[in-house]
Amino acid sequence: MTQIQAWAGHGPKQKLERYTYDPGPLGAEEVEIAVDYCGLCHSDLSIINDEWRMTKYPVVPGHEVVGSIIAMGKQVKGLKIGQKVGVGWNADSCMHCHECIGGNHNLCLTAQPTIVGHRGGFAERVRAHWVWTIPLPDGLDIASAGPLLCGGITVFSPLLTFNLKPTHHIGIVGIGGLGHMGLKFARAWGCEVTAFTSNASKADEARNFGAHHVVSSRDQSALRKMANSLDMLIVTVNLPMDWAGLLRTLKPNGRLHVVGAVVEPMPIPAIDLIFGQKSVSGSPTGSPVTLATMLEFAARHHIAPQVEHFPMSRINEALEHLEAGKARYRVVLEADFN
Ligand SMILES: [Zn+2]
Ligand SMILES: [Zn+2]
Repeated sequence: MTQIQAWAGHGPKQKLERYTYDPGPLGAEEVEIAVDYCGLCHSDLSIINDEWRMTKYPVVPGHEVVGSIIAMGKQVKGLKIGQKVGVGWNADSCMHCHECIGGNHNLCLTAQPTIVGHRGGFAERVRAHWVWTIPLPDGLDIASAGPLLCGGITVFSPLLTFNLKPTHHIGIVGIGGLGHMGLKFARAWGCEVTAFTSNASKADEARNFGAHHVVSSRDQSALRKMANSLDMLIVTVNLPMDWAGLLRTLKPNGRLHVVGAVVEPMPIPAIDLIFGQKSVSGSPTGSPVTLATMLEFAARHHIAPQVEHFPMSRINEALEHLEAGKARYRVVLEADFN
């Protein structure tokens, strides 16, 4: 295989630059994908800027890849050349630990993130293990599907994992890249859906995405009125919140589930957990089977993220747009290396 053209970051807060690398021989279980589109996720920014102290430079970000299979190793199963596929946060996992064999590959302790110590999808081509190469179902719009592979799975996975029922009332906190997809999934699931946002200007859009009700997350009296009404809250923001106030919106046995990487520790009053038998939890993206299930659900219910497109050659402009909080609601880059 020839060298791969990509966009890479060489240090925190530095602009991405054109970068070419030799991917070496294709592994027996590896798939090589020609990138059509790649979503831009907030975690790309965190990795570019080494906010999680795990970045390996030069870093080729991009972990919401959509493209076509152009090469396969000898041991690859169930895929074919030319097939449209997606790759998300993980590109590989060990395949022999309890989590991998149990189907929870996303919990594998040695899972290989697509953009840490591995080159991601802001490139003309990208590689992944065949298990983590997820076929895209017919009927899914490939130009907007990218963000489902990280942002989408992150808000979909808790609905499956915690057996959310159509009779449940779910709250989604934060109506951004993740939250707007959460509203669409929860509505299609059949639930009563409440959007919590600090930005009143997003209320009408939140209703269009599927919210039955919109509540200001900064309004203490509005939170108090919601007491004992929700079965589950999915928190997609990465800022400190009124955690005690949010916990009180849950019914007995309710769950506050965190998918936004809040850096500050969360003060959780034990008494609010004990009375009402409430839980606080978190989860990372999803397994390959959950990814495939989510894509089928999205295709069947015509769920697509609301995206803005940029050519990949304007990657730095797209990153600034995201960092400024201007993305409505998710950015997708179109590979344009030729
Ligand atoms: Zn992501
Ligand atoms: Zn494993």
